[in-house]
Amino acid sequence: MNATPNTSTDLHKVEPSRSQAKLLREYAIEVVRALTSRNYIAYFAGGCVRDEIMGLLPSDYDVATNATPEEVQQIFGKQRSLMIGEAFGVVCVHQRRGGQSLQVEVATFRSDGSYIDGRRPDSVVFTSPELDAQRRDFTINGVFYDPIEEKTIDFVQGQNDIASKIIRAIGDPFHRFAEDRLRLLRAIRFTSRFGFSLDRATWQAICEMADRIVEVSPERIATEMRKMLSFPRGRRQSMELLHDSGLLRAILNEAAVLLDQSKPIRLRSLSRIERLQTNNWIVALVALLWDDLQSNKIDAASFSHTIKDRWRLSNEEELEFRFVVTAQKWLLQADNSPWSQLQPLLLSPHIESAISLTELLLEESVSDFIGVKRALDRMRETLKQDIATWNPPQLIDGRLLIEMKVPTGPEYAKLIRLGRAAQLDGVILNDQDARRWLEEMLARSTSKECSTDTL
Ligand code: ATP
Ligand code: MG
Repeated sequence: MNATPNTSTDLHKVEPSRSQAKLLREYAIEVVRALTSRNYIAYFAGGCVRDEIMGLLPSDYDVATNATPEEVQQIFGKQRSLMIGEAFGVVCVHQRRGGQSLQVEVATFRSDGSYIDGRRPDSVVFTSPELDAQRRDFTINGVFYDPIEEKTIDFVQGQNDIASKIIRAIGDPFHRFAEDRLRLLRAIRFTSRFGFSLDRATWQAICEMADRIVEVSPERIATEMRKMLSFPRGRRQSMELLHDSGLLRAILNEAAVLLDQSKPIRLRSLSRIERLQTNNWIVALVALLWDDLQSNKIDAASFSHTIKDRWRLSNEEELEFRFVVTAQKWLLQADNSPWSQLQPLLLSPHIESAISLTELLLEESVSDFIGVKRALDRMRETLKQDIATWNPPQLIDGRLLIEMKVPTGPEYAKLIRLGRAAQLDGVILNDQDARRWLEEMLARSTSKECSTDTL
């Protein structure tokens, strides 16, 4: 097996360091050895074998064995093992070593029982290595490796497909996608992540079955979308394949509609997600939909709510989406935006995400954006400084308003907001300024010429 690790790859979202990967691999070998020394069969299985053949650093190791979950737990003891999917025969074997928490998933060779509604199998049967390979999704994911004998065990010709860079369903693709429709998305994800091509029959089945992806649970769809939009390298191809197969229309019609609008919009949107450097999937989603968000064809507030509902996203993800969109109004002209508009943006945990999109959008701008770029750099510098230096305590607050006998009402909140802006923009520098400013505002609001609307 060719195991020359390629550390410069961006194919993994969370890429382990070379030393972490080495430690984990050694631990996984120990786990295999503990099983084989007791006369069980145990192999590396799934993604780690594929990654090692490709010269990539696996982010985790899975072991497949003929020991039952109970036997695995007996060997490693309850302290070092945890049943994580008893019904599926999966035990997580773990240990802390060198300050690192090591864990390996040990699964009993199995063959999946019947599938209900194209979701997950409702039962499993423990079987042979060969049948376990057959139940896996794609040939590249179906190869075993024996790390003790240093031998590859390949029942599905996965090595050939890795060498030819092909994603091919194991067995009849229609049948395999009908069993678990999530595999439709997984096929696209692996293809684009590795820059492979799809086997013709596998692609045909994906196109014909695309509409049925909606039968998969929203959480599983969201997990795949997060992954596809996270890997910078595969993002563009993922979205193109999702679009061309009809999957995008089924799960993110807003993007399908946008990509169908015109060739320039399609190319611009795809190039945008391709150029985006960050691993942040929310930023990638905004970047993909930007043309329609900007023109308000897609309303950011209602879309973020819809997508949260559709994919069961977290509140934080919804907030981030909305912030990244709305902050652009000020960030795209950061050199002309008042500090009172920019400073509150810095208080958001999502400011870095928003700036990464701004920088991307600026690259598309025909006008000179050097001033904006400098302003964004200054914002980043500010963020590095102690928050007290750029976020001073309010000079106009409730206490002062009570003292100055401002009646509670709608003006109250407005005065605090405007007072804060005046303070940040340098109009109010101290307590004395604050009182003077407040008196002026109150005088204006009670004078005949100015209604309270001026507040
Ligand atoms: P990644 O690096 O993205 O984790 P992976 O191949 O390790 O890729 P996992 O989802 O961790 O993917 O699954 C581990 C293995 O389990 C796969 O390589 C595959 O053999 C099998 N597998 C996972 N999901 C499915 C599925 N839906 N249908 C069939 N086999 C699957
Ligand atoms: Mg994995």
